[in-house]
Amino acid sequence: MRKIAIYGKGGIGKSTTTQNTVAGLAELGKKVMIVGCDPKADSTRLLLHGMAQRTVLDTLREEGEDIDLEDVLKPGFGDTRCVESGGPEPGVGCAGRGIITSINLLEQLGAYDNDKQLDYVFYDVLGDVVCGGFAMPIRDGKAEEVYIVCSGEMMAMYAANNICKSIAKFGKAGTVRLGGLICNSRKVDNEANMIEEFARKLGTQMIHFVPRDNMVQHAEINRKTVIDHEPTHNQANEYRALAKKIDENKMMVLPTPLEMEELESLLIDFGVLN
Ligand code: ATP
Ligand code: MG
Repeated sequence: MRKIAIYGKGGIGKSTTTQNTVAGLAELGKKVMIVGCDPKADSTRLLLHGMAQRTVLDTLREEGEDIDLEDVLKPGFGDTRCVESGGPEPGVGCAGRGIITSINLLEQLGAYDNDKQLDYVFYDVLGDVVCGGFAMPIRDGKAEEVYIVCSGEMMAMYAANNICKSIAKFGKAGTVRLGGLICNSRKVDNEANMIEEFARKLGTQMIHFVPRDNMVQHAEINRKTVIDHEPTHNQANEYRALAKKIDENKMMVLPTPLEMEELESLLIDFGVLN
Protein backbone atom coordinates (compact mmCIF):
# COMPACT_ATOMS: atom_id res chain seq x y z
CA MET A 1 0.00 0.00 0.00
CA ARG A 2 1.35 3.42 -0.95
CA LYS A 3 0.71 6.14 1.61
CA ILE A 4 0.52 9.59 0.05
CA ALA A 5 0.02 13.05 1.53
CA ILE A 6 -0.93 16.10 -0.49
CA TYR A 7 0.29 19.44 0.83
CA GLY A 8 0.26 22.97 -0.56
CA LYS A 9 -0.72 26.55 0.11
CA GLY A 10 -4.30 27.20 1.25
CA GLY A 11 -6.72 27.35 -1.67
CA ILE A 12 -4.16 26.13 -4.23
CA GLY A 13 -6.35 23.18 -5.30
CA LYS A 14 -5.30 20.30 -3.04
CA SER A 15 -8.76 18.83 -2.46
CA THR A 16 -9.85 19.21 -6.08
CA THR A 17 -6.64 17.78 -7.49
CA THR A 18 -6.53 14.95 -4.96
CA GLN A 19 -10.09 13.80 -5.64
CA ASN A 20 -9.71 14.00 -9.41
CA THR A 21 -6.45 12.07 -9.23
CA VAL A 22 -8.01 9.48 -6.94
CA ALA A 23 -10.87 9.13 -9.45
CA GLY A 24 -8.23 8.52 -12.14
CA LEU A 25 -6.55 5.86 -10.00
CA ALA A 26 -9.93 4.23 -9.34
CA GLU A 27 -10.48 4.05 -13.11
CA LEU A 28 -7.15 2.22 -13.35
CA GLY A 29 -8.65 -0.37 -11.00
CA LYS A 30 -6.77 0.76 -7.91
CA LYS A 31 -8.32 0.51 -4.46
CA VAL A 32 -7.97 3.88 -2.80
CA MET A 33 -8.87 5.29 0.59
CA ILE A 34 -8.90 9.07 0.97
CA VAL A 35 -8.65 10.65 4.40
CA GLY A 36 -9.54 14.33 4.64
CA CYS A 37 -7.40 16.02 7.28
CA ASP A 38 -9.10 19.40 7.18
CA PRO A 39 -11.75 20.65 9.64
CA LYS A 40 -13.70 21.96 6.60
CA ALA A 41 -14.35 18.27 5.79
CA ASP A 42 -14.52 18.98 2.04
CA SER A 43 -11.83 16.52 0.92
CA THR A 44 -14.31 13.88 -0.26
CA ARG A 45 -17.29 15.97 -1.42
CA LEU A 46 -16.69 15.36 -5.14
CA LEU A 47 -16.24 11.61 -4.68
CA LEU A 48 -19.28 11.31 -2.39
CA HIS A 49 -21.49 13.64 -4.47
CA GLY A 50 -22.02 15.84 -1.42
CA MET A 51 -20.49 16.62 1.92
CA ALA A 52 -19.73 13.68 4.22
CA GLN A 53 -22.63 13.16 6.59
CA ARG A 54 -20.42 12.81 9.63
CA THR A 55 -16.75 13.21 10.36
CA VAL A 56 -14.67 10.93 12.57
CA LEU A 57 -14.49 13.53 15.33
CA ASP A 58 -18.25 14.22 15.22
CA THR A 59 -18.94 10.50 15.43
CA LEU A 60 -16.56 10.14 18.37
CA ARG A 61 -18.20 13.06 20.15
CA GLU A 62 -21.71 11.76 19.58
CA GLU A 63 -21.23 8.03 20.05
CA GLY A 64 -18.11 7.62 22.14
CA GLU A 65 -15.42 5.06 21.37
CA ASP A 66 -17.81 2.29 20.39
CA ILE A 67 -18.03 2.86 16.66
CA ASP A 68 -17.76 0.69 13.55
CA LEU A 69 -15.65 1.41 10.51
CA GLU A 70 -18.79 1.85 8.37
CA ASP A 71 -19.86 4.73 10.61
CA VAL A 72 -16.96 6.85 9.39
CA LEU A 73 -15.94 5.30 6.07
CA LYS A 74 -18.25 5.84 3.08
CA PRO A 75 -18.01 4.40 -0.42
CA GLY A 76 -17.49 7.00 -3.15
CA PHE A 77 -16.94 7.16 -6.91
CA GLY A 78 -15.23 4.08 -8.33
CA ASP A 79 -15.44 2.22 -5.03
CA THR A 80 -13.15 4.68 -3.30
CA ARG A 81 -13.24 4.70 0.51
CA CYS A 82 -13.87 8.16 1.90
CA VAL A 83 -13.18 9.46 5.39
CA GLU A 84 -13.28 12.96 6.85
CA SER A 85 -11.38 13.56 10.09
CA GLY A 86 -13.27 16.72 10.86
CA GLY A 87 -12.18 19.12 13.53
CA PRO A 88 -12.77 20.43 17.02
CA GLU A 89 -15.62 22.84 17.68
CA PRO A 90 -14.52 26.24 16.33
CA GLY A 91 -12.33 28.08 18.79
CA VAL A 92 -11.91 25.03 21.00
CA GLY A 93 -9.04 22.58 20.90
CA CYS A 94 -6.40 21.87 18.32
CA ALA A 95 -7.27 20.79 14.79
CA GLY A 96 -3.95 19.01 14.46
CA ARG A 97 -4.76 16.75 17.39
CA GLY A 98 -7.98 15.81 15.63
CA ILE A 99 -6.01 14.33 12.77
CA ILE A 100 -3.93 12.25 15.13
CA THR A 101 -7.04 10.96 16.92
CA SER A 102 -8.69 10.22 13.64
CA ILE A 103 -5.83 8.28 12.02
CA ASN A 104 -5.28 6.30 15.22
CA LEU A 105 -8.96 5.37 15.30
CA LEU A 106 -8.90 4.27 11.64
CA GLU A 107 -5.95 2.03 12.47
CA GLN A 108 -7.78 0.54 15.46
CA LEU A 109 -10.87 -0.09 13.34
CA GLY A 110 -8.77 -1.96 10.79
CA ALA A 111 -9.20 0.50 7.91
CA TYR A 112 -5.65 -0.21 6.71
CA ASP A 113 -5.65 -3.98 7.29
CA ASN A 114 -4.49 -6.32 4.54
CA ASP A 115 -7.97 -7.71 3.98
CA LYS A 116 -9.02 -4.26 2.71
CA GLN A 117 -6.53 -4.76 -0.16
CA LEU A 118 -5.80 -1.06 -0.45
CA ASP A 119 -3.37 0.05 -3.15
CA TYR A 120 -3.31 3.64 -1.90
CA VAL A 121 -4.25 5.89 0.97
CA PHE A 122 -4.29 9.63 0.29
CA TYR A 123 -4.21 12.30 3.02
CA ASP A 124 -5.51 15.70 1.95
CA VAL A 125 -3.98 17.99 4.53
CA LEU A 126 -5.14 21.49 5.44
CA GLY A 127 -3.32 24.53 4.11
CA ASP A 128 0.43 24.95 4.25
CA VAL A 129 0.70 24.47 7.99
CA VAL A 130 3.21 21.74 8.57
CA CYS A 131 3.36 22.12 12.32
CA GLY A 132 1.97 20.05 15.14
CA GLY A 133 -0.80 17.71 14.13
CA PHE A 134 -0.71 18.72 10.50
CA ALA A 135 2.81 17.35 10.24
CA MET A 136 1.68 14.11 11.81
CA PRO A 137 1.08 12.19 8.57
CA ILE A 138 4.66 12.82 7.47
CA ARG A 139 6.26 12.83 10.90
CA ASP A 140 5.04 9.46 12.10
CA GLY A 141 5.36 7.57 8.84
CA LYS A 142 1.60 7.63 8.20
CA ALA A 143 2.47 9.05 4.81
CA GLU A 144 5.68 8.09 3.07
CA GLU A 145 5.23 9.97 -0.15
CA VAL A 146 4.36 13.65 -0.52
CA TYR A 147 3.15 15.61 -3.53
CA ILE A 148 3.04 19.37 -3.23
CA VAL A 149 0.45 21.30 -5.20
CA CYS A 150 1.78 24.69 -6.26
CA SER A 151 1.57 27.27 -9.02
CA GLY A 152 3.83 29.97 -10.42
CA GLU A 153 2.56 32.47 -7.87
CA MET A 154 5.20 33.51 -5.42
CA MET A 155 3.35 32.62 -2.23
CA ALA A 156 2.46 29.17 -3.58
CA MET A 157 6.16 28.56 -4.29
CA TYR A 158 7.13 30.00 -0.92
CA ALA A 159 4.73 27.58 0.81
CA ALA A 160 6.00 24.66 -1.29
CA ASN A 161 9.56 25.51 -0.28
CA ASN A 162 8.56 25.55 3.41
CA ILE A 163 6.86 22.19 3.08
CA CYS A 164 10.10 20.88 1.55
CA LYS A 165 11.92 22.06 4.69
CA SER A 166 9.61 19.88 6.79
CA ILE A 167 10.04 16.88 4.50
CA ALA A 168 13.82 17.31 4.59
CA LYS A 169 13.72 17.46 8.38
CA PHE A 170 11.33 14.56 9.05
CA GLY A 171 12.72 12.49 6.18
CA LYS A 172 16.24 12.48 7.58
CA ALA A 173 15.25 10.33 10.52
CA GLY A 174 12.09 8.85 9.02
CA THR A 175 10.73 7.38 5.83
CA VAL A 176 8.95 10.31 4.20
CA ARG A 177 10.05 11.37 0.71
CA LEU A 178 8.98 13.95 -1.85
CA GLY A 179 7.46 12.46 -5.02
CA GLY A 180 7.11 15.71 -6.93
CA LEU A 181 5.43 19.05 -7.47
CA ILE A 182 2.02 19.20 -9.10
CA CYS A 183 1.71 22.53 -10.89
CA ASN A 184 -1.94 23.56 -10.72
CA SER A 185 -1.83 26.41 -13.20
CA ARG A 186 -2.77 29.97 -12.32
CA LYS A 187 -1.83 31.04 -15.83
CA VAL A 188 1.30 32.85 -14.66
CA ASP A 189 3.72 33.71 -17.51
CA ASN A 190 6.26 30.98 -18.20
CA GLU A 191 4.71 28.94 -15.39
CA ALA A 192 5.57 25.39 -16.50
CA ASN A 193 9.22 26.26 -17.22
CA MET A 194 9.58 28.07 -13.91
CA ILE A 195 8.08 25.25 -11.85
CA GLU A 196 10.23 22.72 -13.70
CA GLU A 197 13.31 24.72 -12.75
CA PHE A 198 12.05 25.15 -9.18
CA ALA A 199 11.56 21.38 -8.97
CA ARG A 200 15.04 20.75 -10.36
CA LYS A 201 16.58 23.05 -7.74
CA LEU A 202 14.63 21.20 -5.03
CA GLY A 203 16.01 17.92 -6.34
CA THR A 204 12.59 16.72 -7.46
CA GLN A 205 10.37 16.81 -10.58
CA MET A 206 7.29 18.63 -11.77
CA ILE A 207 5.24 15.47 -12.07
CA HIS A 208 2.43 17.13 -14.00
CA PHE A 209 1.17 20.50 -15.18
CA VAL A 210 -2.58 20.69 -14.59
CA PRO A 211 -4.15 23.41 -16.76
CA ARG A 212 -6.65 25.84 -15.29
CA ASP A 213 -10.04 25.04 -16.76
CA ASN A 214 -13.58 26.15 -15.99
CA MET A 215 -14.76 22.56 -16.35
CA VAL A 216 -13.38 22.06 -12.82
CA GLN A 217 -15.98 24.56 -11.54
CA HIS A 218 -18.77 23.01 -13.62
CA ALA A 219 -18.01 19.60 -12.15
CA GLU A 220 -17.66 21.10 -8.65
CA ILE A 221 -21.13 22.69 -8.77
CA ASN A 222 -22.45 19.25 -9.71
CA ARG A 223 -20.55 17.79 -6.73
CA LYS A 224 -18.42 15.63 -8.95
CA THR A 225 -14.89 15.20 -10.15
CA VAL A 226 -14.32 16.10 -13.80
CA ILE A 227 -13.69 12.42 -14.57
CA ASP A 228 -17.13 11.60 -13.18
CA HIS A 229 -18.97 14.62 -14.59
CA GLU A 230 -17.47 14.98 -18.08
CA PRO A 231 -15.30 11.91 -18.71
CA THR A 232 -14.42 12.81 -22.31
CA HIS A 233 -13.27 16.38 -21.54
CA ASN A 234 -9.58 17.22 -21.90
CA GLN A 235 -9.35 18.18 -18.21
CA ALA A 236 -10.44 14.64 -17.28
CA ASN A 237 -7.54 13.33 -19.36
CA GLU A 238 -5.14 15.66 -17.56
CA TYR A 239 -6.14 14.13 -14.22
CA ARG A 240 -5.88 10.63 -15.70
CA ALA A 241 -2.37 11.48 -16.88
CA LEU A 242 -1.43 12.70 -13.40
CA ALA A 243 -2.87 9.53 -11.83
CA LYS A 244 -0.85 7.35 -14.19
CA LYS A 245 2.35 9.30 -13.50
CA ILE A 246 1.88 8.95 -9.76
CA ASP A 247 1.16 5.25 -10.20
CA GLU A 248 4.42 4.82 -12.12
CA ASN A 249 6.53 7.28 -10.12
CA LYS A 250 9.80 5.95 -8.74
CA MET A 251 11.47 9.31 -8.01
CA MET A 252 11.37 9.73 -4.24
CA VAL A 253 13.77 12.29 -2.80
CA LEU A 254 14.77 14.20 0.28
CA PRO A 255 14.34 17.73 -1.09
CA THR A 256 16.91 20.51 -0.87
CA PRO A 257 14.94 23.67 0.03
CA LEU A 258 15.96 27.01 -1.48
CA GLU A 259 17.12 30.15 0.28
CA MET A 260 14.70 33.07 -0.02
CA GLU A 261 17.08 34.93 -2.38
CA GLU A 262 17.25 31.92 -4.67
CA LEU A 263 13.48 31.73 -4.78
CA GLU A 264 13.23 35.42 -5.61
CA SER A 265 15.78 35.25 -8.37
CA LEU A 266 13.97 32.28 -9.88
CA LEU A 267 10.84 34.45 -10.15
CA ILE A 268 12.84 37.29 -11.67
CA ASP A 269 14.70 35.02 -14.12
CA PHE A 270 11.47 33.53 -15.38
CA GLY A 271 9.92 36.80 -16.35
CA VAL A 272 7.84 38.12 -13.52
CA LEU A 273 9.40 41.49 -14.34
CA ASN A 274 8.53 41.64 -18.03
P1 ATP B 1 -7.86 24.59 1.20
O1 ATP B 1 -6.45 24.92 1.54
O2 ATP B 1 -8.83 25.65 1.63
O3 ATP B 1 -8.26 23.21 1.63
P2 ATP B 1 -7.47 23.55 -1.42
O4 ATP B 1 -6.01 23.69 -1.64
O5 ATP B 1 -7.99 22.22 -1.06
O6 ATP B 1 -7.99 24.64 -0.40
P3 ATP B 1 -9.47 23.49 -3.46
O7 ATP B 1 -10.62 23.64 -2.54
O8 ATP B 1 -9.21 22.18 -4.07
O9 ATP B 1 -8.17 24.05 -2.77
O10 ATP B 1 -9.59 24.50 -4.69
C1 ATP B 1 -9.92 25.86 -4.56
C2 ATP B 1 -10.74 26.28 -5.75
O11 ATP B 1 -9.94 26.27 -6.92
C3 ATP B 1 -11.91 25.36 -6.00
O12 ATP B 1 -13.10 26.10 -5.99
C4 ATP B 1 -11.65 24.74 -7.35
O13 ATP B 1 -12.80 24.72 -8.15
C5 ATP B 1 -10.62 25.66 -7.98
N1 ATP B 1 -9.65 24.92 -8.80
C6 ATP B 1 -8.71 24.04 -8.38
N2 ATP B 1 -8.00 23.55 -9.40
C7 ATP B 1 -8.48 24.14 -10.54
C8 ATP B 1 -8.16 24.05 -11.94
N3 ATP B 1 -7.16 23.28 -12.39
N4 ATP B 1 -8.89 24.79 -12.81
C9 ATP B 1 -9.88 25.58 -12.35
N5 ATP B 1 -10.23 25.71 -11.07
C10 ATP B 1 -9.55 25.00 -10.15
MG1 MG C 1 -8.87 21.53 0.69
